[in-house]
Formats: sequence, structure tokens, C-alpha cells
Amino acid sequence: MTIQELHQHFLDFKLVSTDTRKISKNSIFFALKGDNFNGNTYAKEALSKGAILAIVDEKEYANSKDVILVNNVLTTLQQLANYHRNYCSAKIISITGSNGKTTTKELIHAVLSTKYKTIATKGNLNNHIGVPLTLLSIKEDTEIAVVEMGANHKKEIAFLCSIAEPDFGYITNFGKAHLEGFGSLEGVIEGKSELYDFLTTNKKQIFLNADDPIQKEKLGNYIQKFGFSTTLSDYYKLNLLEANPFVSIQVEDTRIDSQLIGKYNFTNCCAAIIMGKYFSVLLPNIKEAIENYVPENNRSQIIEKEGCKIILDAYNANPTSMKAALENFNQIKEDNKILFLGDMFELGSSAYKEHQNIADLAEELIFKKVYLIGENFSKTKTKLSTFNSFDTLKVYLEENAVPKNTSILIKGSRGMALERILDLIQ
Ligand code: ATP
Ligand code: MG
Repeated sequence: MTIQELHQHFLDFKLVSTDTRKISKNSIFFALKGDNFNGNTYAKEALSKGAILAIVDEKEYANSKDVILVNNVLTTLQQLANYHRNYCSAKIISITGSNGKTTTKELIHAVLSTKYKTIATKGNLNNHIGVPLTLLSIKEDTEIAVVEMGANHKKEIAFLCSIAEPDFGYITNFGKAHLEGFGSLEGVIEGKSELYDFLTTNKKQIFLNADDPIQKEKLGNYIQKFGFSTTLSDYYKLNLLEANPFVSIQVEDTRIDSQLIGKYNFTNCCAAIIMGKYFSVLLPNIKEAIENYVPENNRSQIIEKEGCKIILDAYNANPTSMKAALENFNQIKEDNKILFLGDMFELGSSAYKEHQNIADLAEELIFKKVYLIGENFSKTKTKLSTFNSFDTLKVYLEENAVPKNTSILIKGSRGMALERILDLIQ
């Protein structure tokens, strides 16, 4: 079956499934392989649960007329997504960067959907499978699709661009994330810039943050760019009014009061504002969309407990976002501030140095109490309290309660699951 023929089937119901536990009726089932599973073995079950076709790549499973044998199921999914992307007339905006992709994507989606039929990546489905699934969720009447692209090594963004063929793109920032795969910050810059390279080669539009020294310097040569700045007059001017803790922004004569914490979210809001301006969304609508947006999934949420105001930022962490969160917390005007920091993962050989840098910064900024948690933080040279695991912290806190009526920041990599600290504050 050609991709065009497969697309004809797809158009009947426009549904795909990849997991037999969540089969959509009338969907096409793609029997993907993972490290620990072989989707081919589930093809029959998918059909019995209501899939109309199953795409497999192992002959022994291609035993009925509703099972289609291809060379590689993943490649077929990607090709179908690319075909569908070109079949639909929606404009594609791609978002990549080290931190803030999901937040920025959600904000852009909120702003643009006030005027256009817009879809966006669901949650964090931003990889070689998530991007195709996002593209396949575009409908014939969709006007704009906001597609998050993640990467942990070079050439990945270039590959995702070849599938999504974006018309517009924005890089949130270049940070020290996934250093294991990218090798160095230079590697991160090269890897993420593949989005701007694709857009330049194809004469498409780049959005950029002109205040980011790396974007300004390295990407200054790109044509067709539209960006924002707090100072540069040839860019759209946006001002941070305050971040104490919520970010407020001045845009022309309008004040936008977001429900987002941290200066870094100023940048994320700016991206959504300039895209709104670029696509002629009226400022009152941009304002309303941003003001109504509340982050999910432990991404800088504010929680009140036992008289404590807790900034829960336990969704993920890397040296760049850790430093940004610490500096932001430092400038919040409160006296009794407590810090819980958990290990940052995937740093390869830089792990020791990067944890030491963060420990040094936490020591230099004055907080009432700092708890450093995890094997990496335990190896740092510091005067601060370190705990080699969550469990040792737990034992300690059972004897030494967290002071009440304080402001608390909790941040660490996903694997540390530091949201568990909430139960220890009582
Ligand atoms: P992932 O790699 O998991 O897809 P992401 O890039 O989508 O992450 P978000 O989920 O939006 O990022 O945000 C995760 C965390 O990154 C936030 O809770 C915050 O601590 C931090 N962060 C968000 N935006 C920025 C930014 N512009 N600069 C630095 N750190 C940021
Ligand atoms: Mg994300």
C-alpha cells in the first residue's frame, strides 16, 4: 500500500492508535516497537478492539486483509504524518529549545486560538513519534498547528523538521540540558538551531528573542525574522513590570498579569505575545488568553500548605533552569525562604561541576534553609545540608519539621519526584 493509499484510509476517520490499552474505534493501529515491547504482537488485539487497520513490519503478523505489512512501522507513521501535513493547509509553528517549550506552546495555542482554528501538541508528545501524532491530529479546517519538538542529540530537530516542514519557528532558549547527548552547550546551540536552519533554507519565518545573547549573536544573520526585546528598538518592545512572584508585562498601553512565576516565564509570555501580534490577534484577546493560562504538572505551581507558600517546580531541572529558578526565588520579597533542590539528571561528565555550581550559588544567595537532595548533590563541597536520597531527607524531616509560615521552592529532575516533599510539610 502506498502512503497515498494509506492516507485515503486515514481520511475516513482521521484516527491513529499506538497503544492497545487506548484504542480509538476506527483508528489505524501502528504496531511500533519499543525497548521492551513489540507492537506487532498486539496487532490482532488492536483490530478486535475496534481498529480498522493494523500496520505491522513482521511478516508472521500480517495474516489478514486488515493487517498491512510495511518495511518499518515507525517510518510509515512519519511518512503518513508528512503526507497529511502537506495535504492540510494549516500553517505549522514549531517550538524547540532547552526549557519552556511546553509552556510556550500552550501560551501560543491559547493566544492564537482566540482568532484561529488551532491545534497543538498534546502534553509533551514532542519526539519522533509525538511529532507525527501531533501532525496527524490536524484537521482539514485547522488553520494553525503549534508543534513542540524535543531533542537530546544533534540532527534530531533537523529530522523532525523534515517531517513537520514548519512555516514558522521559535527557539525558547539554549541551556545546559541533555548535555550527555549534545556533548556541550555548543552542541545544544547547534542542535536547536537546526530549526532556524530549516526555516532559513526554506525561506520561512523565524521568531526570536533578541535579548537572548546567543540568539542575537549567532542568529543575527538570519533573514525573515520577527522578534521581541525589552531594549532594542527594531524589535517588538515588551517590558517586564514585575515577577513577585507572578509575571506582569507591559505591552503598548496594556498591562498583562499572568499566573506564571519566574522571569523565565516573562520570555515564554513574550513569545506568545509576538506571535499574537504577528497573526493580528487583538491585544485584549492576547491579554485574556495569557491571564487565564495556568500551568499544569508541577511546572512552577503555587501551593499553599501549613501557612507556607510553596513554588512547586518539580517537573524537571537542568543547570540553566535551576539557576533561573534560584535567581527568581532570590528576588522574591519575603524573609523566610527555604530551598529544596534535587539532583539534575542526564549531565554526563559535567554532572559534578554543574551540581557544584548550583550548590555554590545556593550558598551565596541567602536563604533561611537549604536542603540539597540526591547522590550528585551529596558529592558537592558545601556548607549546606545534603541528603543522598529522598528517603534520608524524609527521615530527617520527621525529626526536624520544616519551619511554618515560610516561602519554599522545590525543584529537581523528574526522576527525583520532589513533589513527594509536599507530604513531608506538615
Ligand atoms: P521538556 O524538555 O520536558 O519538554 P519543556 O522545554 O517543555 O520541557 P516546560 O515543561 O515548559 O519545558 O517547563 C519545564 C520547566 O522549565 C519549568 O517548570 C521551569 O522551571 C523551566 N523553564 C520554563 N521556561 C523556561 C525558560 N524560558 N528558561 C529557563 N527555564 C525555563
Ligand atoms: Mg515539554
